Amino acid sequence: MNIEIDDKSGFCFGVVRAITEAEKALAGGGTVYSLGDIVHNRIEVQRLEELGLRTVTHEEMPRLAGKRLFIRAHGEPPTTYREAERLGIELIDATCPVVARLQKRVVRAHEEMRPVGGQVVILGKRGHAEVVGLTGQVEEPTLVIEREEELDLLDFSRPIFFLSQTTQSIALFERLAEGMRRRAANPDDVKVADTICRQVSNREEHLAAFARRFDVVLFVCGRKSSNGKVLYEVCRTANPRCHNIEEAAELRPEWFAGAESVGICGATSTPKWLMQQVARAVASLTDNPEAAIPRAGEKAGGGQTDDNPADGKAGDSQTGDNPADKTTGSNHTGGNPAGGKA
Ligand code: SF4
Repeated sequence: MNIEIDDKSGFCFGVVRAITEAEKALAGGGTVYSLGDIVHNRIEVQRLEELGLRTVTHEEMPRLAGKRLFIRAHGEPPTTYREAERLGIELIDATCPVVARLQKRVVRAHEEMRPVGGQVVILGKRGHAEVVGLTGQVEEPTLVIEREEELDLLDFSRPIFFLSQTTQSIALFERLAEGMRRRAANPDDVKVADTICRQVSNREEHLAAFARRFDVVLFVCGRKSSNGKVLYEVCRTANPRCHNIEEAAELRPEWFAGAESVGICGATSTPKWLMQQVARAVASLTDNPEAAIPRAGEKAGGGQTDDNPADGKAGDSQTGDNPADKTTGSNHTGGNPAGGKA
């Protein structure tokens, strides 16, 4: 059985940065509290919990006075910062710079729409932490839409400023932008800022090509991962024998019937060590334990720490994989954080 791990899958720049910050804080001993899962990957969260990280909710903030509280890559609305200050909580802020720029961009979009009676619309998942952080930047309402049918929620007689959560699909964003221009009373009154992070979207084409090369594809990611949903769909469309798993325990022998090759890939929140663990499990399941599981630097490379979660490293060879270097595609208003301008 030929088993290959995609060398471009795994943690993005923002997640590597957040996990590295958390590890640094934990290295000094004591507990660090994280406001929500530090990464949408249960297995990686468990690993960090073993090092002293505790995941808490906003409701638990009042009992954290004097403690260290970690803000993850998704960011938080200003109310969280004010609340932490009031309660005497020490914040460790690991908001991804791409998200931080987008937060400012949302504020500017409202400033632009306010005098002309326009509306700010975001393509995003309602209730997702990043989206809560974005809509919480201003007091006026920001309309969040998830799919094309929700275009009906817009008032097409008024100007529109349209942006996106960083991890959404470019294809969906473009379809929605097109729909807005078509339905707007004045198409020139629709401003479109493609703020999708290229750490996600740049992977789409590559992943589709990767998925087509194998008999079976395993897409490893946490069920809560937004970019995981988008990228899994890309793989599944390219190869119907694609399975989405969180960990090796979910593997089913029947998936590999008649297969000669298995490709393993994942989301921006999937640690490399987890994909390597899955690769080893596939090798033993398919009765081929000596199937080469590439070591770091070989085919499976990509750098995020090798196979041992106990090593406690998020891996850093992707840290230089700065989204600012990854801009592609259209950028209608020049506001793309991936382009570093938002
Ligand atoms: S996907 Fe992009 S915006 Fe999200 S954490 Fe990674 S680098 Fe930051």
